[in-house]
Amino acid sequence: MSNQELDQLRQQVDEMNLEILKLVNDRARLVQEIGKVKEKQGVNRYDPLRERDMLNLIKQHNDGPFENSTIEHMFKQIFKAALELQEDDHRKALLVSRKKKAEDTIVEIKGEKIGDGNPHFVFGPCAVESYEQVAAVAQSIKSKGLKLLRGGAFKPRTSPYDFQGLGIEGLKILKRIADDFDMAVVSEIVNPADIEHALEYIDVIQIGARNMQNFELLKAAGAVNKPVLLKRGLAATIDEFINAAEYIMAQGNGQIILCERGIRTYERATRNTLDISAVPILKQETHLPVFVDVTHSTGRRDLLLPTAKAALAIGADGVMAEVHPDPAVALSDSAQQMDLEQFDEFYRSLLSSAHPVKL
Ligand code: PEP
Ligand code: MN
Repeated sequence: MSNQELDQLRQQVDEMNLEILKLVNDRARLVQEIGKVKEKQGVNRYDPLRERDMLNLIKQHNDGPFENSTIEHMFKQIFKAALELQEDDHRKALLVSRKKKAEDTIVEIKGEKIGDGNPHFVFGPCAVESYEQVAAVAQSIKSKGLKLLRGGAFKPRTSPYDFQGLGIEGLKILKRIADDFDMAVVSEIVNPADIEHALEYIDVIQIGARNMQNFELLKAAGAVNKPVLLKRGLAATIDEFINAAEYIMAQGNGQIILCERGIRTYERATRNTLDISAVPILKQETHLPVFVDVTHSTGRRDLLLPTAKAALAIGADGVMAEVHPDPAVALSDSAQQMDLEQFDEFYRSLLSSAHPVKL
C-alpha cells in the first residue's frame, strides 16, 4: 500500500470520527429532551426495559465485523454517558442549587441577615429547662450584642427514658424570653402537626439530624413562612442533605439555613466527625447559608473553639454552640455545654482570631 493510499484511508477515518462525534452529540441532545419530558411527568430517568429494546434492535442489525457483545458494550457506554447528562441537568434544576440561582440567599431573622458575608451565631442551652435557666444564657448572649438564641423544647433523645423536653411549655418560655430580651429564638420541632402551632412562639424552625429525612416534617416546614435551620442527618451524604433542603424549598419556603453537625464514622475520639469540607461544598453547590454546630459535632468542650475557628475560616456563615448556666446539672448534653464563663472566653477568643473576618 502506498503512503498516499494510507493517507486517504486515514482521512476517511478522520471524517467518520467527526460524523460519529456529531451523531453522538445529536443523540445526547435528544436524550436531554426526553429527560425534560420525563421530569415533567415525574417518571424515572433510567428505564431498563427501554434500554433492552434499544440493544436488541441494534444487535438485530449488526452484520459485523464487530461481535454483538462488543457492540453491546460500546452502546452501553453511549447510553450511560447520556443518562449522566440527564442526571446533571436534573441536579442543575434543583431549586436550592447554585446553578439555578447564582446569588447567595440571605435569611433574615428579626434584622439578622444570615448569609450576608458576616458571621452569625446561635447560642443557647441544649434544652429549655426553666425560664430562669434560659434567661441567664439570654442575658449573656445579649451582653455580647447578639440576637439569636437556641433551646430545645422537643428533644429527640436516644433513650426514651431520658428528658424529652418541656414541649409546648418550653416554646412558651422561649417566647417570653424573646419578648423580654428582644431576641430571636431557634427551636427544634419534631412533629409536622406542631409546626403551625410553633409559629406563634419561635422565629426559626430547627429540623434536627434525626429528622433530616422525615419528609412529612420537611414538607410541613416548607409550607409555612418561617426560616428553617436544617441539620445534616447522622449518616447523611451531602447529596441527601441537599435533597432534604429541596423538599422544604419545593413547598415554597426558601428561607433555609443548612447546618453541618458532624456525621457518624468509626472515629470515637469525638462524638461525631465534623465534616468541615462539607461547608465549602454546600456553599458551592447551593445558594443557602451554612452553619456549623460545634457542640454536637465534637461532643467535646475543648474542641469548641478550634472547630468554630475552622468553621469561620473555611467560609461558614455562622456557628452554633450550646451554653448552660450550670452544665454539670443540665438535663441533656451535660458533658459539652459551656458554662457562662467559658462562653465569655470562647466568644472573646473567637472574635480575636476571626480577624480580619468582619464581625
Ligand atoms: C440540637 O441541636 O438540639 C440537636 C439535638 O442537634 P442534632 O439534631 O444535630 O443532633
Ligand atoms: Mn444538645
